[in-house]
Amino acid sequence: MSKAVECIRCHAQMEVGYLLDATHSGYQQQNWSPGEPKPSFWMGLKLAKDQVLPVTTLKCPRCGYLESYAIPQSQDGVLASGRSSSQRQSLAAVLIGLGLVALMILLGVVFLIRAK
Ligand SMILES: [Zn+2]
Repeated sequence: MSKAVECIRCHAQMEVGYLLDATHSGYQQQNWSPGEPKPSFWMGLKLAKDQVLPVTTLKCPRCGYLESYAIPQSQDGVLASGRSSSQRQSLAAVLIGLGLVALMILLGVVFLIRAK
């Protein structure tokens, strides 16, 4: 993506951008993942995190045609957000796990107090 890309329909120069995913934690750049989607109880989908790539999408300013590429970096050299979104999901899973552990400890203490 280091040189200008021409629209295949009307031959205007394409603009670099990305498609938005609206999530519970805000807006994120779409990502590409290999293979079939596999459901995950905690995360929605199981991911091969080292194979996830951010999707850069080019738009034709004249006709609106969109063309997407899954590449490690955007044309401007800006680091992609693909890793940070999966890291955020991992952090959420850890926090949920810690919350469950704290709840179990609390229930244990309550049970011990009532048993006396
Ligand atoms: Zn066009």
